[in-house]
Amino acid sequence: MYRLETIAEDFFFIQFTNVAWPASANILLIVDPDGLNLVDAGHNGGETAIVLEKCLDGLGFGLSDIHSIYLTHGHNDHVGGVNFVKRFASPRVFIPPGSIAEATDPKAQENAVLPDFVRTIAPRLEHYDILDNFRRSCGDWVLDGDALKPLADGDEVAIGRYRFCLHHTPGHDAGLTVFHEPDRKILVTADLLRASPPGNSLPWYSSTGGGVAPYLDSLERVAGLEVEQAFPSHGALKGDFAAHVEKTRGFLISREERILQELSLGPQTCEQLDVLLYSPLALEICPWYSSITEAHLAYLIDRGQVVRRELEYCLVESAPRALQQGAADD
Ligand SMILES: [Zn+2]
Repeated sequence: MYRLETIAEDFFFIQFTNVAWPASANILLIVDPDGLNLVDAGHNGGETAIVLEKCLDGLGFGLSDIHSIYLTHGHNDHVGGVNFVKRFASPRVFIPPGSIAEATDPKAQENAVLPDFVRTIAPRLEHYDILDNFRRSCGDWVLDGDALKPLADGDEVAIGRYRFCLHHTPGHDAGLTVFHEPDRKILVTADLLRASPPGNSLPWYSSTGGGVAPYLDSLERVAGLEVEQAFPSHGALKGDFAAHVEKTRGFLISREERILQELSLGPQTCEQLDVLLYSPLALEICPWYSSITEAHLAYLIDRGQVVRRELEYCLVESAPRALQQGAADD
């Protein structure tokens, strides 16, 4: 169910070992003379509450010792635990500015994960109640905006004796920020990298979260960092860091190649491409995977390789002449 890993005498990694959505997201725990800091907070209640309380108890602390929470981004499975902790403590809560809207406004969260436009090109999602799914999976995750403090790209943040440099890495989410500790070569990768074990639903991305091009840029940015220990928000990242970055990049590239290959055979709808790209189980658990498909299609349209005709997408070179002209004018 979970593993508590001691990284140093004041640094602990609470890793939830079931990585399939909606399993809770990992939490980092850093001790300082004033008490406890969390990096990400997991779900509100459920397994997170039980595990967090148990881990703190084992280390000789209580939930009331948590004085600061640093959020890597605003997705409901990482921020909801803040509301749980607030029942016992009054922590300062830090979050990237690009994630504040989705963490405080359900409609913004909905649009971050399942953009309105995706509902129009994937009709099975037209009336899909994603917020009901999030409430049932992650508890009441909506945060009080007045209490949030922003974390900006390039900021240096001291958490205990660790000095993290923050890197804004959009793609998965508009505000996604990774925390790098250059002296100890530690990187909190949040949801940027595909981790193990298999079954992990990452890499996940949407146009409203940044989309394909920023995601590739973000991977390039972290590839330039010196990293010996990486901590993802789901699963674990052991071994060669560069290989994990490359593996994640490979997922994006192979999805893109698959879409282009299918479109070379003829026009396809977003939903037809979904079935080719993801397993039936994945689409059942996370119907919002269509957002990934749409992010690729938007990227290919931007690059002038693909055009859309109502629900169908086709390669520019095989499109009717009028559509080709339209693509060229864009
Ligand atoms: Zn996320």
